[in-house]
Amino acid sequence: MSLEILSRQQAILEAANELIATISIDQRLMYINLAGRRMLGIPASLNLDLERIHVSNLHSAEVYQQLNEKILPQLITASEAWEGELEFCDLKGQAFPSHLTIIPHLNADGEVLWITGIARDLRRRKEFEAQRRLAMRVFESTIEGIMVTDGRARIQQVNSAFTEITGYQPEEVLGLTPKVLRSDHHDESFYKAMWQSIAEIDRWQGEVWNRRKDGSVYLQWLSINCVRNDLGEIENYISIIHDLSELRAKEAQIQHLAHHDVLTGLGNRHQLNERLNHAVRQAKSQQEELALLLFDLGHIQIINETFGHNWCDRLISEQSKKIRKLIGAADTLVRVGADEFALLVEDYEAIHDITQLADEIKRELQKTVTIDDKQVALSPSIGVAFFPTDGLNADTLLTSAQTALSEAKNAGRDSFRFFDHKMTDEARKLLKLEQALRSAITGEGLSLHFQPKVQLVDQQIYGVEALIRWQHPELGSLSPAVFIPLAEESGLIVEIGAWVVEEACHAMVRWRNAGLSLPRVAINLAVQQLEQEDFPSWLESVIKNHQLSLDNFELEITETGLMANELCALATLSSLQEKGFRIALDDFGTGYSSLSYLRKLPLSTLKIDQSFIRDMGCDDISLSIVQTIIQLAHNLKLDLVAEGVEQIEQARQLLAMGCQQAQGFLYYKPLPELELIKLLKSL
Ligand code: C2E
Ligand code: MG
Ligand code: MG
Repeated sequence: MSLEILSRQQAILEAANELIATISIDQRLMYINLAGRRMLGIPASLNLDLERIHVSNLHSAEVYQQLNEKILPQLITASEAWEGELEFCDLKGQAFPSHLTIIPHLNADGEVLWITGIARDLRRRKEFEAQRRLAMRVFESTIEGIMVTDGRARIQQVNSAFTEITGYQPEEVLGLTPKVLRSDHHDESFYKAMWQSIAEIDRWQGEVWNRRKDGSVYLQWLSINCVRNDLGEIENYISIIHDLSELRAKEAQIQHLAHHDVLTGLGNRHQLNERLNHAVRQAKSQQEELALLLFDLGHIQIINETFGHNWCDRLISEQSKKIRKLIGAADTLVRVGADEFALLVEDYEAIHDITQLADEIKRELQKTVTIDDKQVALSPSIGVAFFPTDGLNADTLLTSAQTALSEAKNAGRDSFRFFDHKMTDEARKLLKLEQALRSAITGEGLSLHFQPKVQLVDQQIYGVEALIRWQHPELGSLSPAVFIPLAEESGLIVEIGAWVVEEACHAMVRWRNAGLSLPRVAINLAVQQLEQEDFPSWLESVIKNHQLSLDNFELEITETGLMANELCALATLSSLQEKGFRIALDDFGTGYSSLSYLRKLPLSTLKIDQSFIRDMGCDDISLSIVQTIIQLAHNLKLDLVAEGVEQIEQARQLLAMGCQQAQGFLYYKPLPELELIKLLKSL
């Protein structure tokens, strides 16, 4: 063989991508090409010394054992090549899979002279296969349908989600174009735009209506991407299909829930707002009228407590059905609160029709309802407001209807009221007053006056009653009779009441510092204060923080106030009494004044209401009421105070009847603090 041929063969061997090596019979390397040296990490320094590398250096012990004990003996005996997968280890000990061919070279006697090994590194292929397996797993397990087409849009591959969404098995669509999925919801221009986008930016996405195998049409979110080869030619289109039908159904359900009341299936407040806004817009443009009726079923709270929520729910549902029967198909009936419904009537001839409808509904709702042997008769109230007279937009119309409804409720149940403009003026005034009161609590406007209470026998002052005063920035001094009810209604009374307690304590500290002996101070409480769970402990801590004693105080609560929440007030009063507070029942005689009630309450004092004192001189009934109350107090061993004593004759009579204490203009008016201090000093 010429030298030239030899060096050409050497060059070919060196240029090969696979490992090519010759191995001596004693398993040492004789030759290895460049690819092999790289694969096995043989350093250039060993190039001339290859026989130092033994085959056992190129495999793990286990693999070498297999090679040495099984493969090589078999190869030598059979004298033919062996081919298979075998793991190599490079000289750094890094294992890698390979595809190996081993060829024995024999002499004329059939003895092996040396061996050629040809190996292909399988690392990349294995990695590629692992990646492919992973991709296939993703492809099959994703909930999105996937459809792969070739460059001419013929379907090549689909996953199981595709089958689930479209109903087509792979074999039914492979080779076809995606046209098989088309519905007739989109025209050609839609698809033209889609293809244009794909041509320009290699992708498209959007909502598409397609048809399933069973003929049903569904909405999907489709995104199409193209895959190009190295030459820039499109090889595949990959479509990802997200079925939106379920999502849309859920959205519709959420939408329904957001606009409907679950119990009655009627619309809710949200729907009322929408309909009302729409109706008002329409009525404006067509110069028509609208009627908005609000109903309150009445006493639902009591029914709830008596018969339970489930029964009450059924009742509300029954009542809603009754109303529904009376109204027109075009009218909107919605449930806006626990027992409040709104009815929007857009189509009526005259106001009389609405009056009649309201009356019919009222009478229907008043009828006795029997559910599971339990009976109730409701006393509904209805408020009515009209567009445009009572409100020019949805909000004001609704407010007017609400005002009319509360007016109807105030007028006693079982009534209906049209909106009256005077009412909003009144409401507006009250609102302004409430806002001013709110800022008075934090600002300057409030103060306390103190009205002394005296022993009738000698007119000795034994205590004072703290009475709140409000200097309104515009309206001047306002009577608590005006603003206390307002504060009670708005809940401000809790804050005001707290202010009174703190202020009374401050005043007493000032009196103590001025060296005065402290009179007992009576503080008026509203029932909302008693409803505060921590009221007794709060009160005690405020008083103790000022180093005052509970004996220095008396708490007054009116009889009518107690009646508003008897149970809660009773519990709080008991815990106040346990702490050592004296409790007086104010304005006695204006509420139930029942004996059993008096027995239950932890009282120390009764205050006879001033109306009886005022009238006892000229009215025998009042006189005997006063007599009876005095007797009652004696029997129950309660202290007794007569309120509003203005005349000496009243005082004389009271004393004669056995009343020991009084409060009234005859003795002292409520005094500003400085005047009270002067008075106390003068005694
Ligand atoms: P009340 O607790 O029954 O207080 C007695 C009211 O009768 C006081 O009216 C007092 O000025 C008035 N009065 C006293 N003696 C006479 C008299 O001889 N003749 C007449 N005509 N009236 C007399 P005022 O100060 O206007 O308070 C009215 C009501 O406001 C109080 O009635 C009380 O229920 C409530 N109130 C006052 N301050 C407070 C407070 O700090 N908190 C709460 N919750 N209510 C308060
Ligand atoms: Mg009082
Ligand atoms: Mg009173």
